[in-house]
Amino acid sequence: MALDYDVVIIGSGMVGGCLGLALSQTSLRVAMVEARPFVEKQADDAGKRAIALSWGSRCILEQLNLWQQIKDCAKPIRHIHVSDKGAFGKTRLSAKKQHVDALGYVVEAVKIETIVSNNLLASTVDIMCPATLVDYTVNDKNVGVTIELDGKEQALSCKLLVGADGGLSEVRQLGGFELKEYPYDQQAITSLIKVESDQYDVAYERFTSEGPIAMLPHFDGLYSLVWTMPSTLAEQVKQLSEDAFLERLQSRFGQWLGELSISGACQIFPLSLSHVPNPVSSRVVLIGNAAHQLHPVAGQGFNLGLRDAALLADALMTAGKDVGVEDVLESYARQRKTDQALITGFTDSVIKLFSTDNALLSVLRNSGLLMLDKVPMLKNQFARQTMGLGSRFARLKTG
Ligand SMILES: Cc1cc2nc3c(=O)[nH]c(=O)nc-3n(C[C@H](O)[C@H](O)[C@H](O)COP(=O)(O)OP(=O)(O)OC[C@H]3O[C@@H](n4cnc5c(N)ncnc54)[C@H](O)[C@@H]3O)c2cc1C
Repeated sequence: MALDYDVVIIGSGMVGGCLGLALSQTSLRVAMVEARPFVEKQADDAGKRAIALSWGSRCILEQLNLWQQIKDCAKPIRHIHVSDKGAFGKTRLSAKKQHVDALGYVVEAVKIETIVSNNLLASTVDIMCPATLVDYTVNDKNVGVTIELDGKEQALSCKLLVGADGGLSEVRQLGGFELKEYPYDQQAITSLIKVESDQYDVAYERFTSEGPIAMLPHFDGLYSLVWTMPSTLAEQVKQLSEDAFLERLQSRFGQWLGELSISGACQIFPLSLSHVPNPVSSRVVLIGNAAHQLHPVAGQGFNLGLRDAALLADALMTAGKDVGVEDVLESYARQRKTDQALITGFTDSVIKLFSTDNALLSVLRNSGLLMLDKVPMLKNQFARQTMGLGSRFARLKTG
């Protein structure tokens, strides 16, 4: 017998988990299917990566009663400093000038995942874990979903199937969604860095011809490094001795934070930018990395995915009895289009403009940064976008 739900969410990462929690505040019957046991995910080294949360994301997390639990492990970013190696152009954004307490916050991914998982386990959502999606079929009235749970097949039925199953989404592949991919042949090296400076509330974005370097304030006087470079170079840099690694990093990042030293293991992440032009089809919707996977240069992947979850929850809360009807999904897709296109387009242009030593582009980006610093209106707009406030507000964001 198929278990019957209004919504089945495949994938309980940070985005799918937040959608599950938002829907648990409604009368909708929700099931969540997750492949990896929560304990295994919490022990994963990749979870130590720093996530820069925008001010807008904080507002959504507050509405989900999560911010109250996350804030103790969140480091505020009060200034953002953007510069270009070998050029004068730079810009500095400040929280005070934007009349907010912080432009954003830095939190370890695993901390957010753990808090989301614990809240889900205590919620009304039916958690099926470890369980994987096997197949699904859509008809006029519902979606038939087959999952594998405890080595056996289990049938589910729902009005709406949500694919929140990450960059390699099975929901996307089985549904034949078109995916546009922009491979960069770049990788990001991440690590924790001890700095000489005692300035712990500034996020640095430094552009070099090899790729951007982001330094985000972390805990205990540490900074979290995301250093992007071509794949072949990344493999070589990861093999360097600690001294040679630091010398290379210091020469590219400069002296903004004084002497740097390594304080944690290095991790490598392959990078790409991909997005699904139309993330909805009959009774199926893709959100988060399943719908768009961004280069971490702008620190926007989770922020964008969280806005997907907030707006989808908003749409489902105001839908009638059948939450999977075309009108609801089309309206959701229309409202998300601009934000998704803007962020993916912005990220792609930043990488192309800044990861090059082309002389003309170098002059352009330098004058762009100088102009951004001198024109308050441009700077305010840039700050609003960075804080995740540039797009339409979901009810969850405004409360
Ligand atoms: C180095 C790095 C730095 C980053 N920095 C930032 C940042 O500063 N700010 C920011 O906003 N974003 C950042 N990001 C991006 C951010 O981490 C992602 O956008 C976000 O984690 C995506 O969440 P998700 O829930 O959509 O997908 P995922 O986290 O991939 O979750 C998908 C879930 O689905 C489950 N799953 C997969 N397949 C199945 C299946 N068939 N059946 C059942 N379950 C399944 C998986 O186990 C997983 O739990 C960064 C990323 C990287 C790599």
